[in-house]
Amino acid sequence: MTLTEKIMARASGRTKVSAGDNVWVNVDILMTHDVCGPGTIGVFKREFGQNAKVWDREKIVITPDHYIFTNDSKCNRNVDILREFVKEQGIKYFYDVIDDPSGKWTFDSSKGEYRRQYGSHYAGVCHSALPQKGHTRPGEVLIGTDSHTCTAGAFNQFATGVGNTDAGFVMGTGKILLKVPETMHFKLEGALNPGVMAKDIILHIIGEIGVDGATYRALQFDGPGVGSLSIEDRMTIANMAIEAGGKNGIFEFDAQTKAYVDYRTKLNGTKSTYEPVERDKRQKFVFDTTIDLSKLEPLVACHPNPSNRKLAKELNNIKLDRAYIGSCTGGKITDFLDFARIIQGKKVVIDTFGVPATPEIVSELQSTYWGDKTVWQILVDAGVRMTENAGCAACLGGPVDTFGRMNAPLKCISTTNRNFPGRMGHKDSQVFLASPMTVAASALTGKITDPREFL
Ligand code: SF4
Repeated sequence: MTLTEKIMARASGRTKVSAGDNVWVNVDILMTHDVCGPGTIGVFKREFGQNAKVWDREKIVITPDHYIFTNDSKCNRNVDILREFVKEQGIKYFYDVIDDPSGKWTFDSSKGEYRRQYGSHYAGVCHSALPQKGHTRPGEVLIGTDSHTCTAGAFNQFATGVGNTDAGFVMGTGKILLKVPETMHFKLEGALNPGVMAKDIILHIIGEIGVDGATYRALQFDGPGVGSLSIEDRMTIANMAIEAGGKNGIFEFDAQTKAYVDYRTKLNGTKSTYEPVERDKRQKFVFDTTIDLSKLEPLVACHPNPSNRKLAKELNNIKLDRAYIGSCTGGKITDFLDFARIIQGKKVVIDTFGVPATPEIVSELQSTYWGDKTVWQILVDAGVRMTENAGCAACLGGPVDTFGRMNAPLKCISTTNRNFPGRMGHKDSQVFLASPMTVAASALTGKITDPREFL
């Protein structure tokens, strides 16, 4: 069996499953956030009753992160709905924006868009927060009401996004009916050259197979090249499995996975036992390819979809209005550090927005010194508009007052994951997806630029 089949077999109480089987799967963690949480709660109450209790109050993780730092009162109200539900149900893991469990959330725009406006529990973007807070474990099943839930496949788990109806059912029963996906195999060999990043690997793959090339399939990443990729690299790759239509993306378990998961579960006091899945000698793949990482170059997925892949070095005739670093794909600590290595000591020439994915990343950037300056200060001095309000921000547009949102038909190069028309705001804006280093180099020149020019 493939890695995905092994997890689904175990989670459904079978010794073996095959692609195409429909199985009832026991869920280990259900994650929801401020956009889909209220809808999921509504489905749960409608179907199970107003006084029903969730299946397991310790297996539901609620992370407000999307439409948080906005004056939009309906968005603020969504966070309050989550808080009320958490209180009513006694849900253990709720990463609230405010500290007062009886309070109401209101964003105060008079404090400006840069200063942090969250309490001590807030965790930021769900897919980055889940591993940091010790909720991702090898061999488990994670269901989330967000398409990029597949990010957690980096940790050797089956992780996939569902709609509110399925999530409402999971909330009440802890189970979900799933068809076992076929697996596409991506064997990684070699190592990336300087200036080439994990984002380039996944842009290459999506460019090869298309935005529907993996529809309802598992993308399995293994081989000797995986060892050269950090956990954050693997998260970037698994995160964008959905951009090829994938049901999930999944990596092999290794010492890096173990070190990360053991540290995070211990740090947060979450469940620390788990059982990884390993490759069988014989596996059935619907597609099988080998990628030599050393052959890849910096890439850009041009407007209007993530498979519109071109070499960065061939696009320097495209002038840009804006650069953006952030999101569950490209707002991790390693993303900001690689971005800063290019930016350090220079000035950006276009509007450049920086949104760390989590408060922990904000703290790390503000406490990591390169010489006599923090990385945060280096970025600010270079002209990057860094906000402490970690979250999804303009990755998916959001209300008009969202930090970094494109409210005009601008051209933006971004470390995010999706560039369909209107994704980051204005319907006539254009988004070019690239690695943090390519975004940094482009911010310095005002046009799409291969970061190797700055190495
Ligand atoms: S950062 Fe973007 S892609 Fe990630 S969860 Fe938020 S909106 Fe979705």
